[in-house]
Amino acid sequence: MGSRCKQCAALFVPPRPICIKCHESEMEWVEMTGKGTLAAFTAISIGPAFMAEEGYNRKNPYCVGVVELEEGARVDARIERVDATQPETIKVGMPMIVKFLHRGEGVDKKTYLAFEPV
Ligand SMILES: [Zn+2]
Repeated sequence: MGSRCKQCAALFVPPRPICIKCHESEMEWVEMTGKGTLAAFTAISIGPAFMAEEGYNRKNPYCVGVVELEEGARVDARIERVDATQPETIKVGMPMIVKFLHRGEGVDKKTYLAFEPV
């Protein structure tokens, strides 16, 4: 979900309660299709501890990127199902679809935003 400013129609993903362009606080919810294209990416070999716990390291890097949604907003997310050991195979402009990653159990369960190639 994102939020759209009722004053200037600016779209924010993740949603914001106040528009950073015109400072309007009247926002409406907008459901995204979850489709977009890869706008930028990087392969990370030395990540934070929670990524190391998932098994990512110098020999098994992971990919994060910016996805431009069909609706126009850009969002940072993990990029799954790409080979981060061969970043030359990952292309800006690749069609992407959203994927939600669930980690942990019970009250510690967290959901992360990710995308994967279509
Ligand atoms: Zn606005």
